[in-house]
Amino acid sequence: MDIKENILMGRYELGRLLGQGTFAKVYYARNLRTGSSVAIKVIDKEKVSRIGLINQIKREISIMRLVKHPNILQLYEVMATKTKIYFALEYAKGGELFNKVAKGRLKEHIARKYFQQLISAVDFCHSRGVYHRDLKPENLLLDENENLKVSDFGLSALAESKREDGLLHTTCGTPAYVAPEVINRRGYDGDKADVWSCGVILYVLLAGYLPFHDSNILEMYRKIGKSEFRFPNWFPLEARRLILRILDPNPVKRITISKIKENSWFKKGKIENNGASGSSSSSTVIKSQDSMKPSSMNAFHIISLSPGFDLTTLFEESRHKKEARFTIWRPASVIISKMEEVGKVLGMKVSKREAGLLKLEGMKEGRKGILSIDAEIFELTPSFHMVEVKKCNGDTLEYQKVLNEGLRPGLEDVIWDWQQDQQVQPEQHEVLLQQQDHDS
Ligand code: AMP
Repeated sequence: MDIKENILMGRYELGRLLGQGTFAKVYYARNLRTGSSVAIKVIDKEKVSRIGLINQIKREISIMRLVKHPNILQLYEVMATKTKIYFALEYAKGGELFNKVAKGRLKEHIARKYFQQLISAVDFCHSRGVYHRDLKPENLLLDENENLKVSDFGLSALAESKREDGLLHTTCGTPAYVAPEVINRRGYDGDKADVWSCGVILYVLLAGYLPFHDSNILEMYRKIGKSEFRFPNWFPLEARRLILRILDPNPVKRITISKIKENSWFKKGKIENNGASGSSSSSTVIKSQDSMKPSSMNAFHIISLSPGFDLTTLFEESRHKKEARFTIWRPASVIISKMEEVGKVLGMKVSKREAGLLKLEGMKEGRKGILSIDAEIFELTPSFHMVEVKKCNGDTLEYQKVLNEGLRPGLEDVIWDWQQDQQVQPEQHEVLLQQQDHDS
């Protein structure tokens, strides 16, 4: 059973339904340990896999870990069972931005603030090679301080699918926010397409209605393709000029984000360094990486890395014998010195690399060159880590020997759970999740 009496994985108490998408239901939830509010997005794995999107979702979940920005809805963790994927997301108390617009167009300075925050979020993601491709009203939420939070960044697979499935097409609304080149399916640049959608959004914020609309969908496509729209006479002049530069049907001539950021209307009233707008502030949200600070992981990664669990099918990485993983109840610094100690005993050179990576190298040539092993440390909680060991060079047999006769016994007193090709039952993961919870 996935959810027992509204308690998810012993961690979240589920509350009311906040919204519903094609593949997902979103619930309000409370973190039982901290009491803080989150939104839990429940995705039906079967529905998603039926249309062949699993691989894309796998990829995009890892992308989501890359994007942390004050105007992007944060993904806290991912949990999964055989049938469902659960995303614990930052809760956007203010709901959808467009509920506001539905009550009437926004004042110019308010619309500008949201647009600045939207551009800041989009710019940040593009700088990391992530494109939304489906920016639209439902994806723009507000927090309790009226700051914009873009949702589903990096989860465009879910959005894309809505268009790919012809049956779902009409129920998923109109292509009102989609760039002409996307509609024409000629292949497109994600960044240019996102810029177009931002232009449509800005128009809607200021006008209170869509620039391209028609009851006949083909007519609407035609209007989008030619960027055929009008401004009402009260529409602010400077904003008109900017929108005309954005809604250029030719993606090559369309204004870029960096030029938008230089635009005088855009820059007005811009509060720098408030952590919620401006690209300069966006860099502040990326924590400076301590050179040996391990990469953080979540329960989902652990589950997905476990060979016996059904979820492994979610992941592309094949389970090769060259890898071993174990979890340790020790801070990273202790693990590192322990590994150095064991390396010394084994006659191997141990060097520290970036982001929690240790390299163990043999001193002399083996059967297939010098044995080289990478040990990567992932932080689960500050004192609970997972170490992934894999062979980079050398003979597999020699590696297995080092692993099983050297590293493993050498670390035995600190290792909590060792995974190498054995089957791990799902029940064990529940334990793992709870243990993690106790620790954090
Ligand atoms: P989605 O499937 O992401 O489009 O979510 C469906 C609806 O659920 C959204 O349009 C919002 O109304 C609501 N929703 C989604 N995520 C959140 C969140 N993190 N906080 C509050 N409401 C949300």
